[in-house]
Amino acid sequence: MKPLTTSQIQSIDRLHIWHPYSSMNHSVPSYYIKSASGVRLKLADGRELIDGMSSWWCAIHGYNHPTLNAAISVQMEKMAHIMFGGLTHEPAARLAKTLVDLTPNALDKVFFSDSGSVSVEVAIKMALQYWQSSGRPEKSKFLALQNGYHGDTFAAMSVCDPDTGMHHLFGDVLAKQIFTESPRCQFDKPFDPASILDLETKFYMHASELAAVILEPIVQGAGGMRFYSPEYLSAARLLCDRYDVLLIADEIATGFGRTGKLFASEWANISPDILCLGKALTGGYMTLAATLCSEKVSDGICQGEAGIFMHGPTFMANPLACSVAIASIELLLESSWQGQIISIEKQLRAGLAPCAELSSVADVRVLGAIGVVEMKKPVNIAVIQRELVEVGVWLRPFGKLIYVMPPYIMSPEDLTQLTTAMVKVIGKL
Ligand code: PMP
Repeated sequence: MKPLTTSQIQSIDRLHIWHPYSSMNHSVPSYYIKSASGVRLKLADGRELIDGMSSWWCAIHGYNHPTLNAAISVQMEKMAHIMFGGLTHEPAARLAKTLVDLTPNALDKVFFSDSGSVSVEVAIKMALQYWQSSGRPEKSKFLALQNGYHGDTFAAMSVCDPDTGMHHLFGDVLAKQIFTESPRCQFDKPFDPASILDLETKFYMHASELAAVILEPIVQGAGGMRFYSPEYLSAARLLCDRYDVLLIADEIATGFGRTGKLFASEWANISPDILCLGKALTGGYMTLAATLCSEKVSDGICQGEAGIFMHGPTFMANPLACSVAIASIELLLESSWQGQIISIEKQLRAGLAPCAELSSVADVRVLGAIGVVEMKKPVNIAVIQRELVEVGVWLRPFGKLIYVMPPYIMSPEDLTQLTTAMVKVIGKL
């Protein structure tokens, strides 16, 4: 097969391919990456970019990792895929057992699906079926947080922040949920009990119609990159218990070490009733997600009228994806990941500190391997990206946020280059 030239690829891309949140009429040219290795993305023209995004929270071990490559090759020789209806395989069994062992005790049933958004759909369906089976079908609403983000499919969208999730675009099709204000209590500030007043009020007013609360523990990601107090999370758990409402923790972005704990719920020592995992689950190699639930939830569902859980994707528990997920988790647990995250955190704090002095900057915050510079005004993504690419760095800002979440394996030198580039480019805004 004759390879396509760079200009052919770029022209096909511009004419025919949608990119995330993009226009086909006013397309912004995409950078053409030929390969990636370690923490570097290699452009077709030979330049290399230090990746500060881990491909949207996923590539925690970097790219082209020999152990992860091998996991896929070995599994490929056996089978790439089989249907999961009525059949099972070792990668699914091993991965399920690993996830059950790593997550809180109560979570011991695992449902595999294709992507984070689908795992949220599954979580929402689990909660709905649970209450239907328990003879309380009126518990069919979800309490979600402003500034939250849970994915782009319809049920997931209904629990995203109404403004940033653009609920008005989807009118009556989107289920109407209940929202509480985004947590005001910052992660590293003394907890103010007033910051849970609105949450308490929403429970008090709506508990009888609430199936579950859904939240991103500790870090609200794509809805604003906000870090909130573990005490808020503990309070949410207590309120769920008091008012008989399930708790869904969406750890799709925070899972597998990003915040400094293996799962962000550990900051508050709480266990959700339902847990969504994705993104870094496969080290960024393949698309796979998992929704875990407690026996209380699975029993409830299975004792109901249907007697079964009503979901079953074609690519459920894909063996290649499960194999690379097992390898990625082993790699993580065998590494000194906690030390790596602490070093990255320290370096991000020091490296991004100069941004706090700039008049264009509203806030600089760091938690684990996440560094955020919030500007006072929305930024021009294409312009900033061009400038960062010129200095050898890859980031994808959004709204007012220019943020970084590097692969955990990034060296101090590369991280310095990254933060120096950010300070330089932000300094010009
Ligand atoms: N939940 C959270 C917290 C996320 O950050 C994301 C993705 N950014 C999703 C759900 C959706 O995952 P996916 O893009 O894999 O569907």
